[in-house]
Amino acid sequence: MSKKKELIILEPDGRIRKEAFMTAPMVCPYCNGRGCFMEPLLPGVDVKKDCPDCKGTGEVVAMVTIDWKPNIK
Ligand SMILES: [Zn+2]
Repeated sequence: MSKKKELIILEPDGRIRKEAFMTAPMVCPYCNGRGCFMEPLLPGVDVKKDCPDCKGTGEVVAMVTIDWKPNIK
């Protein structure tokens, strides 16, 4: 299976600060993008429950935080 990779090049620029990057949306691996699960409530009655990982969106994103610090030795 093909995989798309994203690359972050780490370079301090101007004043050091906290930086954050959000990845492109990816299919939720827990619900396989469906966003929900059917759970039995009563015999013969299923209820739709939102996926706890993607909150029903079917997609997840990763927030990558880079926290620049002084090199204290
Ligand atoms: Zn999900």
